[in-house]
Amino acid sequence: MVLAQLELSVWFVRAVAFVWGCLWASFVNVVVHRVPREMSVVRPASHCPACGAPVRAWDNLPVVSWLVLRGRARCCGARISPRYVVVELLGGVLSLGIVEVVVRALPGDTTLVHAGSVFLADFALAMALVAAAFIDAEHMYLPDTITIGGTLFGLATPGLRGIGFGDAAFGAAVGFVGVWLPFIVGYKALRGRSGMGVGDAKLVMLAGAWFGWPGAAFALFAGAIQATIGAVVLVLVQGRIDEPEAVRKDREALTLAAAEGDAEAKRALEEDPLGTAPAAGIMAARLPFGPFLCLAMIEWLLAAEWIQSRVGGL
Ligand SMILES: [Zn+2]
Repeated sequence: MVLAQLELSVWFVRAVAFVWGCLWASFVNVVVHRVPREMSVVRPASHCPACGAPVRAWDNLPVVSWLVLRGRARCCGARISPRYVVVELLGGVLSLGIVEVVVRALPGDTTLVHAGSVFLADFALAMALVAAAFIDAEHMYLPDTITIGGTLFGLATPGLRGIGFGDAAFGAAVGFVGVWLPFIVGYKALRGRSGMGVGDAKLVMLAGAWFGWPGAAFALFAGAIQATIGAVVLVLVQGRIDEPEAVRKDREALTLAAAEGDAEAKRALEEDPLGTAPAAGIMAARLPFGPFLCLAMIEWLLAAEWIQSRVGGL
């Protein structure tokens, strides 16, 4: 079997890709909820975030159950965040997008095994980026399992993206150093605090490992432009940029523990750049950068050729 034969049943392939994406994104919702809380992502099975009752399989269908139950839990009527549906639909759309843009662009004589491997790797990347974006937006931290794990996976599979190991390794190095040196070391020397977190540097390292240095450069520049637009929109709409609620609550819990003599909490507060409340004013506002980097990486995943044809040098 080669790829060209799938063209006969292209609507079937599209439907399967969309449903597949929604199902896995359902798991991404579990990751987004549990990983920052240091809970296992496999056990226990899904339960209601409000009352803890187990969720029956029938009420756990991606998108459909949320619509049927009108965004409320069957057990206790608690409101279920629309984030669950948004993530599930994102999974379906990204899965479909990878099939349309990446897989169907492969030569017609590509074996199904190779085409399937390309799809699975890119889909895994897309789901990891969605998880990272939502975790960073809520908690302002990017898990190493995603950034470092994704980098290693990218270094192991450059052939699936038609680049060599050298390109991937160079891209990863450029990505990390290109953020760490100016925005963490340099910025701290000039202004006494870092302009970005080490997690952001590791995320750009992942972009480089996956796409080579042009992908890392695009992630950083497009991420910065999008973050600026995001900040302007937030200021126009709300008049200010609020620190995520979970970050403030974590710091309050740590401060309380430190005041009661918990040495570990005290050290965590001193070492973590989020350990002090943000100063007043827009320039000191804390906006998570990870979601904007993830968005730029997804743009590159789906439209690198289009972007390269318009931006010379990349
Ligand atoms: Zn409930």
